[in-house]
Amino acid sequence: MSSQLSSFQNSTPKLLGRKRSPTERIVPSEEESSSGSEESVVAMVKEMDTETTEARDKLIYECRLLLERDESNTLNKEFHRRYLDSPFSHPLPPGMVALDASAPWLLYWIANGLRTMNQSWLKTETQYRIQEKVFRVNPHGGPFGGGLGQLPHLAGTYAIVNALAICDNVEGCWDKINRTSIYDWLLSLKREDGGFQTCLGVGEYDTRGIYCAISIASMLGLLTQELCENVVEFLIHCQNYEGGFGGVPHEDEAHGGYTFCAVASLAILGALDRIDVEKLTDWCSQRQYNDEKGLSGRSNKLVDVCYSFWVGGTAAILEAYGYGNCINKAELKEYILKCCQMETRPGIRDKPGTRPDFYHTNYGLLGVAITENSFQLDPRVSNSLKIDSFIINPIDNSVLEPINPVYGLPSSDLEKFYKHFK
Ligand SMILES: [Zn+2]
Repeated sequence: MSSQLSSFQNSTPKLLGRKRSPTERIVPSEEESSSGSEESVVAMVKEMDTETTEARDKLIYECRLLLERDESNTLNKEFHRRYLDSPFSHPLPPGMVALDASAPWLLYWIANGLRTMNQSWLKTETQYRIQEKVFRVNPHGGPFGGGLGQLPHLAGTYAIVNALAICDNVEGCWDKINRTSIYDWLLSLKREDGGFQTCLGVGEYDTRGIYCAISIASMLGLLTQELCENVVEFLIHCQNYEGGFGGVPHEDEAHGGYTFCAVASLAILGALDRIDVEKLTDWCSQRQYNDEKGLSGRSNKLVDVCYSFWVGGTAAILEAYGYGNCINKAELKEYILKCCQMETRPGIRDKPGTRPDFYHTNYGLLGVAITENSFQLDPRVSNSLKIDSFIINPIDNSVLEPINPVYGLPSSDLEKFYKHFK
């Protein structure tokens, strides 16, 4: 068995994703194709169809039908409120057992969705329950894993710090966070090349880990020179030839999630001028498709509402730092409101043909919040950490709380939390 495995590994190049065999097509010369040339072109284009181009054609058709409707141009907040309130009063469906290690994420997505729609919709009683659950995961105040008995993880700790930030310090929960132990743990995850392992000894390292670490440290006032050493160098080498960022340095595929993590971290570290911003703004613009009006996460992929935050948030950060506006916010809003809300089910879905979930509801709402506002930095504040110097102005009838695009949290909550630890 092991010799079979090693011969397979030796003969197969290490490729991620599915492998498709190359398609060869011999193009006929002009004389050969002179009769019926139009048909031959159509046939040739048809031959180049892939699962993705076929799925996109279908999606464009479905989006067009939805976009043509006039009546669905508002955010159905009360409907989504019911969806996000339900997990606090009903058990989650059995299928969600697989998300056990993601319990901190669920807390953040659900609570943040409510808070972004209306400050008072995250009730004091719910805030109390959130902090109680969080400190059951680690009674010593962090770092935090996904649940009881699980190893501390950057993603879990990031989601829990974010969830606590919107809890108004109920029960003095902000002071129960063990900053010393979180700082020592962050240092233990740090690699010489500037990356952070997501979990001590076993975790992967990429721009997501860096963003979680830098976001946690900046919110808790722990951003030291020692913690930040080589981080900027790691990140700037993740920008690839397309202009977006991959997960790891040197020509990894550009992706909306990795790009957000890199750009938000560089913004916190005051180093956006170290990258090719022009190429990045082009890449963000290319993520928005004319037909669907929404944003995709990668070249040749379908639109998905969560990129309204991952790519829309990147665009908002660039806008705040004075690099102009690289997406069409009005069209993005149309995609979210008309194509990702349903009349029959509450919550926000990633695209027509899929079902709403908590993740897409939170990031869809954050996307709407981005489209409702303009972003700039207060020029009077010159330090590189700009948590409390975002100027957010409504450009539309805003129905949501203004959010800070670097952190994905309502800006008033973020500022209170940051000042508490400053
Ligand atoms: Zn998505």
